[in-house]
Amino acid sequence: MAKMNVKKGDKVVVLSGKDKGKEGEVLVAKPSEGKVIVEGVAIVKKATRPTPANQQGGIIEQEAAIDASNVMLICPSCGKPTRVGHAKDAEGKKVRVCKKCNAQF
Ligand SMILES: [Zn+2]
Repeated sequence: MAKMNVKKGDKVVVLSGKDKGKEGEVLVAKPSEGKVIVEGVAIVKKATRPTPANQQGGIIEQEAAIDASNVMLICPSCGKPTRVGHAKDAEGKKVRVCKKCNAQF
């Protein structure tokens, strides 16, 4: 399986599908499935039954998981969608590297 380059809290842009071009923050990353849930992307409507908290029930909108290969990380340093490289910092910790501006994060 392809390694995921995005994780929770990253800003990403959607590369394909009906939400192509949308930007949002990764709310949930599921490396085991290679999927991510991105704020405001792939919204699906779900019918809910009435509950004590929501007596009417009704339709709620919720983000669906999308394939992590359909999003690209937006570099927190240069603000551009970018491919990500991997490197180790001075302490040997794994870091990601922006291929555009070489910022490590
Ligand atoms: Zn950058």
